[in-house]
Amino acid sequence: FAQFTFANWHERSAGIMGTNIYAEVFHEDAAYASRALDAVMQEMERINQQMSPYIDSSELSQVNKYAGKKAVSISKELFDLLSLSIEISRLSKGAFDITYASVGYLYNYKDKQHPSQSDIQTLLDAINYEHIELKASAGTVKFLNPKVKIDLGGIAKGYAVDNAIKILQEMGIRHALVTAGGDTKLLGDRKGKPWVVGIRDPRDKHKQAVVIPLENTAMSTSGDYERYFEDKGVRYHHIISPRTGRSTHEVQSVSIIGDKSVYNDALSTAVFVMGVQDGIGLINSLPAYEAIVMDNHRRMHYSKGLTP
Ligand code: ADP
Ligand code: MG
Ligand code: MG
Repeated sequence: FAQFTFANWHERSAGIMGTNIYAEVFHEDAAYASRALDAVMQEMERINQQMSPYIDSSELSQVNKYAGKKAVSISKELFDLLSLSIEISRLSKGAFDITYASVGYLYNYKDKQHPSQSDIQTLLDAINYEHIELKASAGTVKFLNPKVKIDLGGIAKGYAVDNAIKILQEMGIRHALVTAGGDTKLLGDRKGKPWVVGIRDPRDKHKQAVVIPLENTAMSTSGDYERYFEDKGVRYHHIISPRTGRSTHEVQSVSIIGDKSVYNDALSTAVFVMGVQDGIGLINSLPAYEAIVMDNHRRMHYSKGLTP
């Protein structure tokens, strides 16, 4: 009897981190479920206050303001996320690089503005994760090139989703879903059934390109449709090649499945930049991750573990 199945599910959504946050938990006690959902949204808000480039007082904004001039003391939490970002830069041969923002911040998607080729050229050498100097003993970060800016938009939501699920687990919740934009993590199953997670059609938001049953794992999707504008037939979207300072056009959508949302998030951005061959090659070298890629001709490509 369907109503019984859904009776103890509680959901909430909110606009945080420039995206839609959605959480769903199973619990017999509605008041307790509501506290669990509060805790999820509080964690999202906490990470947003710390890592948003749009909040002047955020730790990230302070780093961008001063680390080009001197070493800046940062929290262990930010230090660890910067270390992980650099690890993924190495793994992806520079396709994922949080210093993309040195050029990336010149794009204004709301006002449909993009930098000229000479603006890009002036700042392109600032894109290089090797300019980020982390000192573990001192707990500091310094940029070795004064033009460097960093941005965590390709990894922070995945990180936040991991944290939110951990908080729910610690509260004794055993079935839950948390989504932040394209980053989704599932705790347990949907009470005897798997969760069914969709990957939307990149060119039609009312259609799904693929649906996949999943439980106790996570999936992140990066697409060229999340934030973009068009100018003279060129699609300027939010995933930037660190090599060119421009959006890439080999693929339209990349989904990564794996247990750690923070890795899924960064890897989906990395594979998007790398394209089909190199990107799926990278994921095939990582046994804990799988990839689903739609190329620019709308053809689907899968990593080894998903290929029948
Ligand atoms: P979403 O923001 O929809 O979750 P992604 O996870 O693919 O999508 O992240 C895209 C975001 O990552 C961009 O909005 C930008 O903040 C950041 N970004 C863009 N290009 C890169 C890159 N080459 N390396 C790291 N981060 C990037
Ligand atoms: Mg990402
Ligand atoms: Mg993401």
